[in-house]
Amino acid sequence: MASIRTRITASYALAFAGTMFAFSSVVWAERRAVAQRELHDRATLVADLAVRLLRASYGVDLASPDTARRAGRDLATRYKPLLDALPGYLIIGDSANTVYQSPLVRALSDRDITTLTSAAFSLEPSGDSVVALDDQPTQILLVSRFEPSAAVRRVIAGVSTQPLDVVGSQVLFLALVIGPLILLISAATAWTLAGRILRPIEQMVNDVEAISDGRSLHRRIPVEDLGDEIGRLGSTLNAMIGRLETSFAALRRFTADASHELKTPLTVLRADIERAMTTGQGSTEQLVALEEALQESARMADLVESLLTLARADEGRFDLHREPVDMEALVREVAETATILGEYAGLQVSMPVIQPVTILGDRVRLRQLFLNLVTNAIKYSSKGGKVELRLEASEGVAVFTVKDTGLGIAGADLPFIFDRFWRVDRARSRGGERGGVGLGLAISQWIAQAHGGSINVSSRLGRGSTFAVTIPALPEGEKGEGDAG
Ligand code: ADP
Repeated sequence: MASIRTRITASYALAFAGTMFAFSSVVWAERRAVAQRELHDRATLVADLAVRLLRASYGVDLASPDTARRAGRDLATRYKPLLDALPGYLIIGDSANTVYQSPLVRALSDRDITTLTSAAFSLEPSGDSVVALDDQPTQILLVSRFEPSAAVRRVIAGVSTQPLDVVGSQVLFLALVIGPLILLISAATAWTLAGRILRPIEQMVNDVEAISDGRSLHRRIPVEDLGDEIGRLGSTLNAMIGRLETSFAALRRFTADASHELKTPLTVLRADIERAMTTGQGSTEQLVALEEALQESARMADLVESLLTLARADEGRFDLHREPVDMEALVREVAETATILGEYAGLQVSMPVIQPVTILGDRVRLRQLFLNLVTNAIKYSSKGGKVELRLEASEGVAVFTVKDTGLGIAGADLPFIFDRFWRVDRARSRGGERGGVGLGLAISQWIAQAHGGSINVSSRLGRGSTFAVTIPALPEGEKGEGDAG
């Protein structure tokens, strides 16, 4: 759930970061190109102004040496204040020497003047270039105007490229400071939006989880809007749950009816067999056959009874007759039966710990639960083994433990032992005193859960198993206070 939300937010943030990056790059490139053009225009303007000034003063023909000399002198004196008023870096030269330098150039260090002048003089006739100076933080863009026929041939204007750096830092600021901020806001928005969109689905998952425990199939997922996707998903799930409910109910009904219907004929059958056995007629073989038939019908009656119990439990038709139960007395009773069964099977049954504790429960069902565990412990142990029973009271619960040194259960089988009709090895207990059909633990678990408790198992193959039933105990003051229902 959260992972879809995280994924939506991450995808959104990633897409946004990508878009932001592409957008910043485009803005940066565009603004840089514009700034570059502007710088170029500004330098060109200064150069053109200077050229015009020269032309206006000396006419088109600046070629004669006399004019050149005059111009050289004039530029250093007469036109100097005028030229000095022009912005930026300006260098005017004849074919070999510099005849004028603007104040910005003059203010540079000797080394930088040399660098700038040599870059200026090596420019193509109407070329441009960018020069880095040692003592200046920004580079200088130089634009050249060349008058081939004139004594004053070169006019080179330069401007600082600082505006370009400003563009860079503006975009960088946008990308590094504003970007993450917007990213954070949009990720938060995406997170909230995704949460809002996914909330009905999350609710639906919770509803389905609550319904699918098997006992709440009558419930339905609330569907608000049948028109949207979530509404359709809800109604589809509802239809599915409806079908499940019908088939589960039919299955339970069938199991309950079938086992109920089988009970009477089985009782009649057993009575008939017993009567036939007591007449004293018939051969030994016939008696053996009747004995076997009696055992099998007893087994079948057990099975039918267990099925009926589970079917009723599933239908919620099984009310427990709750009353305060003195667990100590109950467990002593179970231990007595266990000792007899144990002796018969050649096992040593002991009860090293028994503490007084009272619980609110159905005495008959609890007895059935404890006997199930005890008979399993005996059934799945070999001669000479040990079975240990404990009853402990601690932290508001009663814990009844049955520990055996028997066959044990493999780790891979443990998750299934409470499933109906599940047995580790169907042939294993054949010939034992009670075959078993794999319903005992399913019923035991139902009884424990109906009492608000649980059964924990730990087992190692070949080493034995420990089954521990934990049931909430009655608080001290409430003991012996009649039937609590
Ligand atoms: P069953 O009627 O076969 O005893 P249960 O539901 O009581 O059915 O038990 C299910 C399966 O769990 C058994 O068939 C057996 O394989 C295994 N099992 C239960 N209790 C024990 C135990 N104390 N030791 C080893 N295996 C056990």
